[in-house]
Amino acid sequence: QAQRTPLIAGNWKMNLDHFEALTLVQKLAWALRDAKVDLSAIDVALLPPFTDIRSVQTLVQGEKMDLAYGSQDLSQHDAGAYTGDVSGAFLTRLGCQYALVGHSERREHHAEDDAQVRAKLTAALRHGLTPILCVGEALDVRRAGDHISHVLAQVDAALDGSSADDLAGLVIAYEPVWAIGTGETAGPAEAQEMAAAIRARVVETHGTTCGDSTRILYGGSVKTDNAAAIVSADDVDGALVGGASLDPTGFADLIAAVH
Ligand code: PEP
Repeated sequence: QAQRTPLIAGNWKMNLDHFEALTLVQKLAWALRDAKVDLSAIDVALLPPFTDIRSVQTLVQGEKMDLAYGSQDLSQHDAGAYTGDVSGAFLTRLGCQYALVGHSERREHHAEDDAQVRAKLTAALRHGLTPILCVGEALDVRRAGDHISHVLAQVDAALDGSSADDLAGLVIAYEPVWAIGTGETAGPAEAQEMAAAIRARVVETHGTTCGDSTRILYGGSVKTDNAAAIVSADDVDGALVGGASLDPTGFADLIAAVH
């Protein structure tokens, strides 16, 4: 198995203003130190609202914290008459390393389709951001037994047209929609089944090096007490954490439990 550094990413969603962001990041840094987390062995990324990114940059860079950060979305365009959108170029300038693309809440509330997700993924790559591509099935799809083909179709659609070189460093987050914010989680076996299927598909479409180095995260009600079991699955390289990333002590304990 390829050596893949685990990644825990905290998606704050639409929570915390730019002052509250500073408090959370500072408390998280202290809690990670108290929990003796070795940040050379695990990557931690914070995904705050756009309006918080400048504050997070100031604190993280000013205090030389070993924390990465990124955005929850980005525009597929680089600049121009796209009112309300945010360019990947601006995010790179603020030191962002990651950008979520295709989160199920964007797909649902902003009707983002696979073509748009692909355009956003390529925009992230164009600006040197590592996309965290989110994929996952709704409950009816799983009940019908179509979850694997559904998710692989999302992966294919998003990666189509990008080369293996373009996709170096790619992160894919498998987030069953029925598990997000619900307290339900896929078990480690279900997470592993999907992660292995995703990796096999990336190997098939983009080659072994790309597939083996892609980090695959699980997301959906990951908490301190279930994180280690899920991330211990062979093909699961970390977690995308929503609600539980808003409590700095709990999030640090979650990270410590995984690493
Ligand atoms: C998410 O927003 O990506 C997520 C997984 O949320 P939660 O952990 O709250 O289910």
